[in-house]
Amino acid sequence: MMSAAASARAILTRLHDVMATRMHAQGKLDAVVDIIGTSLDSEVCSVYLLRDGMLELFATRGLNQSAVHVTRMALGEGLTGTIAANNEMLNLAEAKAHPDFLYLPETGEDKFHSYAGVPIVYRTRAVGVLCVQHVDPRRYEDVEIEALQTTAMVLSELIANAELVDEEEARGLSEGHTGTQSLSGLTLVKGLAAGHAVFHQPRVQIEQVMAEDIELERQRVYRAFDKMREQIDSMASQAEFGVGGEHEEVLQTYKMFAYDEGWSRRINEAIDSGLTAEAAIERVQQHTRLRMREIDDPLLADRMHDLEDLANRLLRIVSGQLGTAASQGLRRDAILIARNLGPAELLEYDRRRLKGVILEEGSLTAHVVIVARAMGVPVLGRAQGLRGFIREGDEILLDADAALATIRPSTAVAEAFDDRFAKSRERQAAYAELRDVEPVTKCGTRIEVMMNAGLRDDMSSLALTGADGVGLFRTEFQFLVSATLPQRERQTRLYRDVLDAAGDKPVIFRTVDIGGDKPVTYLKSEEAQHDENPAMGWRALRLALEREGLMKIQARSLIEAAGGRTLHVMFPMVSEPWEFDAAKAVFEEQLVFLKGQKKMLPEAIHYGAMLEVPALAEVLDLLLPKLSFLSIGTNDLTQFLFAADRANPKLAERYDWLSAPIMRFLQRVERNTNGSGVSLGVCGEMGGRQLEAMALLGIGIRRLSITPAAIAPIKDLVRQIDLGELEKAVTGWLADPSNNLRESLTAWASDQGIDIA
Ligand code: PEP
Ligand code: MG
Repeated sequence: MMSAAASARAILTRLHDVMATRMHAQGKLDAVVDIIGTSLDSEVCSVYLLRDGMLELFATRGLNQSAVHVTRMALGEGLTGTIAANNEMLNLAEAKAHPDFLYLPETGEDKFHSYAGVPIVYRTRAVGVLCVQHVDPRRYEDVEIEALQTTAMVLSELIANAELVDEEEARGLSEGHTGTQSLSGLTLVKGLAAGHAVFHQPRVQIEQVMAEDIELERQRVYRAFDKMREQIDSMASQAEFGVGGEHEEVLQTYKMFAYDEGWSRRINEAIDSGLTAEAAIERVQQHTRLRMREIDDPLLADRMHDLEDLANRLLRIVSGQLGTAASQGLRRDAILIARNLGPAELLEYDRRRLKGVILEEGSLTAHVVIVARAMGVPVLGRAQGLRGFIREGDEILLDADAALATIRPSTAVAEAFDDRFAKSRERQAAYAELRDVEPVTKCGTRIEVMMNAGLRDDMSSLALTGADGVGLFRTEFQFLVSATLPQRERQTRLYRDVLDAAGDKPVIFRTVDIGGDKPVTYLKSEEAQHDENPAMGWRALRLALEREGLMKIQARSLIEAAGGRTLHVMFPMVSEPWEFDAAKAVFEEQLVFLKGQKKMLPEAIHYGAMLEVPALAEVLDLLLPKLSFLSIGTNDLTQFLFAADRANPKLAERYDWLSAPIMRFLQRVERNTNGSGVSLGVCGEMGGRQLEAMALLGIGIRRLSITPAAIAPIKDLVRQIDLGELEKAVTGWLADPSNNLRESLTAWASDQGIDIA
């Protein structure tokens, strides 16, 4: 008996011969059904292809020939229609027992019992079905199903070359036919957006199925495996995976699969059967997908996603189709789909075309989300299982306000969405009117509402929102988007441009906060590479003080850029007062140096610190006399207070900013700072949310620095508040936090007639 690979190769050789002839496409299809029918010892073998939205019988052996080009069925109709609609194979011993079975009298198929069919996939969509039927009730063997899948791949190549299926039609499949689906998740950045699905890691298009030279294909796949394993081994430090949380688990699974001998052996066997490296990887993947589906275990399904990722990575390496969707450019309005992203990866996309992002993971304070928020791009996170039903190019309506995305929307859904979109634009227009309105409370207190920024482009938001200045300029963004360490001239130019754009308004420059979930590949320190816990590791000021050169250059750039103006500098992640002293000393030293160089110096330098590490709150009495301002970074602070990784999607919804531990902590910091002459503000994401901002005002915070999109809603809120009343209420709740603060605040706001958007 022939081995499975040898018999598969025999089939492939025969298919190859047919494809190589000059026969027209119909003749080739007729020959293919004959070859498969005989090889699989099946009375019937048929090919259905999509034409005008219907599946049409294009070729058959065993059914009535008069049914060819006559029998047609809709997607989802009968077994064949079900395979195409679901893009899934069927293998049935008794076809009639399946609920979707449909008897078509003109074909004469009543005498057949068993049925197996596989989708013919073109550009990720099922554009047809290849099926076999047998008089005996038997389930087809694995090797037979594999032969069908291989043949389906060959057919898809034929279809592409002979243009048997209209490409537009293949695309059109997504509209209506496979149906509207909705996907829920967690709102990470509010907003509405419409666009077409673009996978951050695009699927590879297999151009050639049959190998010309098997040995060559084997070498290609060996090399690709080596490269993939190398990548996995060094992945821990990449943005894609360096975001904490589940990445360890994912990496372990990746490693397990990448080194799995069984996987590489099966790919090799598929190459033995005559497939190209790409086709072999895909064939094995199809097979695994099937097996996993049959097992129907949610844990395994998760692992399947990992294997899919990896198989796609292997395909991209072997085919040379490297690069993310960003490097290929966005051609139309896009909704980006990814497991997770690093901030730098997001910044590579064309801002005009990138309308929304859907992540399988993600959390509110992950840096990629902060960047998206600054870009005004809505983000839906924790959208699990999305790869199961979103396909490249699908139309998507993203309603991040409602934590929902609709894929392939029906007309009715699209119309309802348009209405909401129009309303949201109206609200934006109303907010635009608040631009020149000062954020003064009902009782007459002026609140400072500043904006967070990180890129030159962000500065246009200052004028658009009427913010009081930039309360947090994340200087590390320039480092994140550069391939190499930004030189002094480039840094100076950026800081100068930012100050020019700000005019009279203050800009608080935060010195680089790299490390943690903002790794930069060109600046890896030995320690950072081995950080098991990057958020608590060698990052921010810790790293900057070690790399004194880095800090010196930044200090010099900032001082030079601020020549003749006031410079505000803030240090991140100060954990003990001496770190502030050491950082300030670097600036003072540069000041002396530049003075010696007769450079124009700033009129004044105001130094501040971020309060992100809880320990610092215990030594405020020592620190405050050194500062002119203190800014609470609630993103990091809360992760440390609750010991909950800010980037871990599993913890994304677990702890509330409006919980007693956080609010009482902030209240204590405010009380201890009050009267010290040091100006206190909050620059974490918390301050940009209306209810949270209300709570902060209620404990005495008078300066908020927030994402540009939140400026107008917060100004709107401030103007409706009576601070005396609010402070009384919040202080009361915090003294006795048995009530849920979020609920109490919501009810209070509603009693006061305060509008929370
Ligand atoms: C914070 O931690 O709250 C903060 C503002 O800094 P970043 O989000 O950049 O870490
Ligand atoms: Mg921080």
